[in-house]
Amino acid sequence: MEACILIVEDEEKLARFVELELLHEGYRVDKAADGRSALDMALEKDYDLILLDIMLPELSGMEVLRRLQKSKDTPVILLTARDAVMDKVSGLDAGAVDYITKPFAIEELLARIRVALKRYGHGQVTAGPSGATGAKDPAPAESHEEGVLRWKDLELNIPRHSVTYGGHSIDLTNREFEMLRILLENMDIVLSRDTLLEKVCGYEYLGETNVIDVYVRYLRSKIDEVFDVHMIQTVRGVGYVIKSN
Ligand code: CA
Repeated sequence: MEACILIVEDEEKLARFVELELLHEGYRVDKAADGRSALDMALEKDYDLILLDIMLPELSGMEVLRRLQKSKDTPVILLTARDAVMDKVSGLDAGAVDYITKPFAIEELLARIRVALKRYGHGQVTAGPSGATGAKDPAPAESHEEGVLRWKDLELNIPRHSVTYGGHSIDLTNREFEMLRILLENMDIVLSRDTLLEKVCGYEYLGETNVIDVYVRYLRSKIDEVFDVHMIQTVRGVGYVIKSN
């Protein structure tokens, strides 16, 4: 049975666009255009995931999230306005599993949905701290801790939005963080500059792939050079990859 996703978005065109993409991916989809009906639907039916816009009529997305959390643990990805940092922070505090900033590249949304369903979806075996047998193998870079990606002594913590190397904290901009997250989530997979650009910057930057080289340079200067490692590898003519060994 394919996962069933509730889209809560009052911008009709955006909701329709996301709905079509999700249907195309094989998900089952319901839609709500205001906070109150979203909450009713989310309480009534067991969705595998909810995409929740924050700015909604009737009841804000944040309020929907708070009320929903009292009785259910349905994973929620928030759709936030650009640079609404407070929304992101309070959203994650309120229990959202992830957020995505509008306007977003659909590939990024789909990737986050896949990750969220894999981590929090129904029927998943949860690996306890002892590493329960029979648990699904996590992606190479993932530890058993939720939302933490690792490479050697590097640790990227998605909920905390923090990066450390051997315990030393590394200060990254949002885009550097996103870039590193995407490379770690796709460990051992070479990502083209186009793919990285779309995932990191969204559609509006399409064509300017040298932006990616700039971010790689920044990341290398903050991580590779400081900690004397060779983390981000260039694959000539193709793109970039972080290799697990
Ligand atoms: Ca809205």
